[in-house]
Amino acid sequence: MASRVRATGNNFILASLLATLSYLPFQLVAQFTLIVCVLLFVVDPFPTSRLAPKLILANNKAIKAALIDISGTLHIGDEAIPGAVDACRKLFQYNHQLKVVFLTNTSKVSSETLLHQLRDMGFDESCIPDRDAILTSVNATRQYLVTNELRPYCLVEDDLVEKDFQGVEMNDPNCVLVGLAPSKFSYDKLNGAFRLLSKLKGELEHADCGDKPSLIAIHRAKHYRDSDHQLSLGPGGFITLLEQTAGVTAHVVGKPSHAFYHAAVSSLGVDPANVVMVGDDVVGDIKGSLEAGLGGAILVQTGKYTDGDELGNKTDGVLPTLTLRSIVEAVDCICFCVEKGTTSTT
Ligand SMILES: [Mg+2]
Repeated sequence: MASRVRATGNNFILASLLATLSYLPFQLVAQFTLIVCVLLFVVDPFPTSRLAPKLILANNKAIKAALIDISGTLHIGDEAIPGAVDACRKLFQYNHQLKVVFLTNTSKVSSETLLHQLRDMGFDESCIPDRDAILTSVNATRQYLVTNELRPYCLVEDDLVEKDFQGVEMNDPNCVLVGLAPSKFSYDKLNGAFRLLSKLKGELEHADCGDKPSLIAIHRAKHYRDSDHQLSLGPGGFITLLEQTAGVTAHVVGKPSHAFYHAAVSSLGVDPANVVMVGDDVVGDIKGSLEAGLGGAILVQTGKYTDGDELGNKTDGVLPTLTLRSIVEAVDCICFCVEKGTTSTT
């Protein structure tokens, strides 16, 4: 919408200019054109922030916090999405009015490795201050395992096991844990998980072992946008395979789990209705956050976004509050609304 308004404004200026020029001698025309161009460059009558689409949260609530997805929204592979670094920096310039947390399902690398990768892409301390600014489904999973005394058989990458799951008991496993683990999805490892799930299911049927789930999924995304810019398999298909063969149902910890969203919002100390989610996954980021009670959700057309995602066909009719081209437009929109206080209800 912003680009259309900008184009309309520019067309009006161009038409006026041409009409005026047709009545003037050439030298005057050249001088006049030069002056107008300089004035337009200096004054910039159509700044992006003033033309940002209006974001209205449910029940016209004020925006007090933003949850920002990382993979596909800030970067694809090891490349930052154009403008994403400056957009994050801009968000933190509003930190006296707006709380910001990055919320990710990334389960291919540890939190420490993820932060290093983001730093290498240009997201310095002014964009993402430290690890505390990132809430990962991996850390939520660790908490879940410890709280429920679960000892996982891991289908996750070694980097996670060595860092994020350090100290978690893994001898004599009593559950299967699945993340995005390309190096672990072999027949032998999957068959080992199937055999353990079948054994645990048999034990559950013959003993009172409580209601602890035996299959834990860090998340179950079907696919993600890989570093070669093509879609690659996520862990979702492998989780479905284990569910169907072993006859169990996975407990999903990360997005779109409502518990994960509620934990993120409660860490910010705000009401869910005052929070907007920004992400590229119409199911995990948009449907999940809105069904968890967040006030709004912006779908960005980068990462795993595919044409028509915003139409609700993949989300049982749940529609994003706004669909914008990238994190750059999303941040412009959020900052504009925060600055102008376009929503006033607390
Ligand atoms: Mg994403």
